[in-house]
Amino acid sequence: MSELDHECPICGTPLPASSRYPNHICEACVEKATDERGRPLGFANVSPTGGFQAVYRDTGADAPGHTCYIGSTRCWADEARMGGIVVEPVDS
Ligand SMILES: [Zn+2]
Repeated sequence: MSELDHECPICGTPLPASSRYPNHICEACVEKATDERGRPLGFANVSPTGGFQAVYRDTGADAPGHTCYIGSTRCWADEARMGGIVVEPVDS
């Protein structure tokens, strides 16, 4: 599964398709994620075995929840099933 037959829904970069995460966003766009006030957010696994953690990049403080914004697109960040972080747009 190395075909790049998915496109980042934000910037259009070709990405490997994922049946589990059909709308996943590329890493470069995930790095632009902010909260609804424009405060930069970062996402990480809690430990090597997984878990999800969101932090404010400016202070390193824990950030609540999974919702983030990339540009004007509301997105949902979560732990990927095989490790790492996956972010997808949220409709409406
Ligand atoms: Zn992108």
